[in-house]
Amino acid sequence: MKKDRKLKFPLKGKFVAMVAPSFVVDFPYPGMIYGLKKFGFDKVVELTFGAKLVNQAYYKELQKEGFFISTACPGVVSVVLDKYPQYKKNLIQVDSPMIAMSKICKKVYPKHKTVFISPCNYKKEEAKKSKFVDYVVDYRELKSLFEKNKINLNAKKKMHFDKFYNDYTKVYPLGGGLSKTAHLKNVLKKKEIKVIDGISRVMKFLDKPDKNTRFLDCNFCVGACIGGPCVNSTESLRKRRKKVLNYLKESLREDIPEAKKGLTKRAKGISLITSFAR
Ligand code: SF4
Repeated sequence: MKKDRKLKFPLKGKFVAMVAPSFVVDFPYPGMIYGLKKFGFDKVVELTFGAKLVNQAYYKELQKEGFFISTACPGVVSVVLDKYPQYKKNLIQVDSPMIAMSKICKKVYPKHKTVFISPCNYKKEEAKKSKFVDYVVDYRELKSLFEKNKINLNAKKKMHFDKFYNDYTKVYPLGGGLSKTAHLKNVLKKKEIKVIDGISRVMKFLDKPDKNTRFLDCNFCVGACIGGPCVNSTESLRKRRKKVLNYLKESLREDIPEAKKGLTKRAKGISLITSFAR
């Protein structure tokens, strides 16, 4: 399938880059957008809008009875399917933000190829199984491309993401980002939500789950996506976390006239319900 191919730069044709908000641990904002446009991306969108729709789907699913495991992280899904098949039925049947955003992009930009900019390799595996994601470039690959092409990301340029931006889901790459932003307090009690990052801790929980937990919001990497294996940063997780929170704060202050206009309408008719059976 085409996703096994390396994306060739400079790009020929129409491409949309889909950027996870964890990018701020490695690249400046809005310099990242400038750099991607320099490479020939026609559109650069952030994953946060997809995450918001994922939240809405979780809200609905979590109203059902039972125990659920979050599926935004393909690393966790893979471990559950391989080592804990007894929990396959508990994987929440909702697309990850990457797939959700790709579906939206395929609807809004039907002629574009979608390229996910990723903090990990697990996303490459997930993309291979989806017809909605055409390519994945990880942060390490992107950093070396920026360096090789001498693209100065710190050049002062006033830019913002295309169409979808300013969402509170910019905290998604932090541990518990999903459950904190999905407005679950009407659906679950606080003690029914367990947040765990780091696969060994997730496995420990699955080996001996507590009876109160109805929703396990979990991630493979320690620190969640800001600790992803393709992240370049060697800063402490505390500093990376602070970068994400500052980015959220700053971007909420941005004055972008088109922001928040009828965004949900753009996703009308898109189903985010998926199956993790294999
Ligand atoms: S937690 Fe790690 S493995 Fe999971 S999506 Fe984030 S970076 Fe990838």
